[in-house]
Amino acid sequence: MTKARLSLQQVVDGGLCSGCGACAYAQRDEIRMTDVPDAGLRPTPVDPEARTLPEGDGAAVCPGGELGLDASDFGTDTIADLRAGWGPVRQLWEGAAADNELRYSGSSGGAASALALYALEAEQYEGVLHIAAREDIPYLNQTVISRSRAELLARTGSRYAPASPCDGLAAIEEGEGPFVFIGKPCDVAATRKARRLRPELDRNLGLTIAFFCAGVPSTRGTLEMLEKMGVSDPSTLRSLRYRGNGWPGKATAVYSDEGDGTTSAQLSYEESWGSVLTRHVQWRCRLCADHTGEFADIAVGDPWYRPVEPGEAGSSLVLARTERGRDFVLGAMTAGYLIAKPAAPDVLPRSQPNLLSVRGAVWGRIMTLRLIGAYSPSFRGLKTFRFWCSQLSPKAKLMSVVGTIKRCLKRRMHPAFHRSR
Ligand SMILES: Cc1cc2nc3c(=O)[nH]c(=O)nc-3n(C[C@H](O)[C@H](O)[C@H](O)COP(=O)(O)OP(=O)(O)OC[C@H]3O[C@@H](n4cnc5c(N)ncnc54)[C@H](O)[C@@H]3O)c2cc1C
Ligand code: SF4
Ligand code: SF4
Repeated sequence: MTKARLSLQQVVDGGLCSGCGACAYAQRDEIRMTDVPDAGLRPTPVDPEARTLPEGDGAAVCPGGELGLDASDFGTDTIADLRAGWGPVRQLWEGAAADNELRYSGSSGGAASALALYALEAEQYEGVLHIAAREDIPYLNQTVISRSRAELLARTGSRYAPASPCDGLAAIEEGEGPFVFIGKPCDVAATRKARRLRPELDRNLGLTIAFFCAGVPSTRGTLEMLEKMGVSDPSTLRSLRYRGNGWPGKATAVYSDEGDGTTSAQLSYEESWGSVLTRHVQWRCRLCADHTGEFADIAVGDPWYRPVEPGEAGSSLVLARTERGRDFVLGAMTAGYLIAKPAAPDVLPRSQPNLLSVRGAVWGRIMTLRLIGAYSPSFRGLKTFRFWCSQLSPKAKLMSVVGTIKRCLKRRMHPAFHRSR
């Protein structure tokens, strides 16, 4: 039996929105993205009188309620041992941007930016759609098009805060030549859905790059991190990086001090992500079966399988997921933009050792939501049940079920709370 597609309003009410912004692209006159500080970026109707999100193409491009991989995505040349837990992987490497500045300022080894630079300089791409800090409010993000090395360099680094890169897909659709899209796995999954609906987007979307993503913290997480750094008034902030400038690098806030100067404060990756931001991750991320960009041409992440040596400039794990992705990585290596060596398949699970149990817990959470009549996402071709069986202890299973019921009720995500609409 096919599950009926959820409306955008049901996706949002049920806590299934990841904030990708694809609905705001698909219904651009009707929907805009708004930051909800305790949740994330969420679609809101442009019409201030509207009580619900308007129906339209948004639901068809939304990755919140449904995602699916087909047999054709796996083909015959993907690595058999990785298919169930990690999706289609045709080849993997460990490496870094050949450009030392990109490598150093990049989040891991600057591979995403190096591949984008290769596209701009050697493959005649028109632009790169991705994310940057807002200049006026540096703890918020904006969607941007980069067309030069200088712009790519200024926008390196992971931003552990809400971002909706898909709200800028119209720029790709209306462009002349091919574009690179960089985003989280759910952002890239949304572009896959959107390109099926819009031929002009499909024509101009030359390459998609996803980075590994454990979850996006709300703006409240950033504000709490700033407080911990001693920035009690966010309006004094001049710039904010979450990591990069080394590997993984430090969260660095530069803010106006009481005199005329600026002061900077730093937190280690463990202090920022590990002890503050991770507690503010949005609920949809707890239901996410794709943390490694299974819908992208290329996925990049941290090779955490080995300890980071003091002073290391940075290193990236690079996965070719499609044939186009593999050709592109090989082209970037041949042209000298990316320096990388082949990695063994087991480097992926060793780099992200908890992701299989995370995937298993997702199965339990979704089943729990279904049993209590709440909205839940459905996944096709992304295996979860086998990891529920093999990766979680009985205690972890119980905690996953009880925690899901508690959160669903506490955050008013059950349809019973929204019947009066
Ligand atoms: C929310 C979040 C969760 C993460 N979780 C993991 C994880 O579980 N495991 C892991 O290995 N790595 C994780 N990372 C880090 C990221 O996957 C790696 O650093 C990746 O290797 C990219 O490094 P790079 O040096 O190639 O990127 P860079 O060359 O520095 O480029 C980074 C690119 O990401 C874009 N970007 C930054 N923040 C966002 C955002 N919030 N939304 C959309 N695009 C953005 C930038 O515009 C830029 O194009 C996470 C990053 C983020 C933002
Ligand atoms: S997941 Fe994306 S497309 Fe779906 S409602 Fe949220 S912002 Fe819109
Ligand atoms: S964890 Fe999954 S749903 Fe959440 S932001 Fe990352 S890719 Fe999107």
